[in-house]
Order: sequence, then structure tokens, then C-alpha cells
Amino acid sequence: MAFPDLADRLAEVNDRIGAAVERGGHSQQVTIIAVTKTHGPEAAHAAWTAGLRDVGENKIQEAVAKMEAVDVPLNWHLIGHLQRNKVKSIDRFVLLHSLDSARLADAVSTVGIGRGQAVDVLVEVNVSGEDTKGGFGKADLLIEAERLTGLAGIRVRGVMAMASFTAGESELHRTFADARAALDVMRGAGHPAEELSMGMSNDYEIAVEEGATMVRLGTTLFGTRAS
Ligand SMILES: *Cc1c(COP(=O)(O)O)cnc(C)c1O
Repeated sequence: MAFPDLADRLAEVNDRIGAAVERGGHSQQVTIIAVTKTHGPEAAHAAWTAGLRDVGENKIQEAVAKMEAVDVPLNWHLIGHLQRNKVKSIDRFVLLHSLDSARLADAVSTVGIGRGQAVDVLVEVNVSGEDTKGGFGKADLLIEAERLTGLAGIRVRGVMAMASFTAGESELHRTFADARAALDVMRGAGHPAEELSMGMSNDYEIAVEEGATMVRLGTTLFGTRAS
């Protein structure tokens, strides 16, 4: 059996999430997105067997190959950058976490209008301010939040953020609190934005304390990635 200790790892993660919700006081429900990137289809299958229903991939081609190899009805999330020439593939995912530019938003909206159903997206916010990270900076966020209300083919369900890998605890709290403020900006602009996708294996407890409703976990569930 692949990933024999997944059930134990998941039980521990659930305990830690429960404790973090208590400490943070936001009383939110938290959905675990099992990040299966670089692992084979057996990781997605193991996730299903362990009771997880949501999986995340950061590359379209890898995700689609895995979807075709897995015969259980998982919810697939796209958590990595989406190139505009692959935008039609978004049809196969329940949620795009990484809406990171105005041009991508326009392209995704065209897909949503074409298929007659808006595409659910999270707006990626660059709250850590690192140049290497994608997404909208604080300065652009309000303008884009308002502009996005004019795109009929997307539905903004929330925001996604990534913290710096080198941040200490207090900086992590600040980054995730900024992401929560970005969610308020989206709501203020009139979007049905409820989801805060933030927190990875090394920082998810702090993210949950700050109100994360979706955590994206790879390593802590499946072990170290080969690549
Ligand atoms: C790989 C990845 C994750 C999961 O990272 P881990 O540290 O293995 O939990 C989460 N979010 C994104 C966007 C990723 O690319």
C-alpha cells in the first residue's frame, strides 16, 4: 500500500488544526487540500482512502494526467500559476487558487462566459512583498477588486496567500493577518469571498490561527518530495 502512514499523519494534522482554530478564535471550518504534486496517482488515491476529498496540483499537465489515472471523484484544485494559453483546462478544476494577474482574470472570465458558468477563483495576494512571489500587491488590490466585479465569467470566492519560507513566527502572523484583510477588501468590493487559502506544511498552524479556511498540505501528509 502506498503511503501507509497517511491516516496517522492526517489524524495528527486534524488535531493540530483543531487546536489552532481554538487558539485563533475564528471558529472557522478548515478544508485540507492534499497537495499531490510530484507524486504519482497513488497519492491521490491514498488521499481519497484516508477520507480527504480535495487535492491540489500546481501544474496543468501533471494534474490532468493524474485525474485520468484516478477513478475516484476527488475535487481538484489548481494551486500554481496558470499560463494563459492553458486557460481552458481550468474547466477540470473546482477552484483556481492562483489568479495572479489582471490579464489572466480576463482570460479566465472569457472561459466562464463561454461555458455559461462562472469560474470559481481565489485572488492571489502578495502580502509578503517578495518579488519572487506572484499575485497582487497591497497597492493594486482595491483597484483590482473593483475591476473584477465587472467580469461576468469569474466568481471571486476568496484570496490565497503564501508566506516567506524564511519568516519567523511574528512575521508569519503578520503576513496571514494581511491576507485576512485582503479578504475583507474583496468582500467590501461586493465579491462572495469567504475562503482564505493559506498555510503549507511548515506554517499551517499559524495560518489557521489567523483564519485560514483552506490549508494546502503536501510534505506533512506524503513525506518529502523527490523533486
Ligand atoms: C507545493 C505547494 C504546497 C504544499 O507545500 P508543502 O510545504 O509540501 O506542504 C502548497 N501550496 C502551493 C502553492 C504549492 O506549490
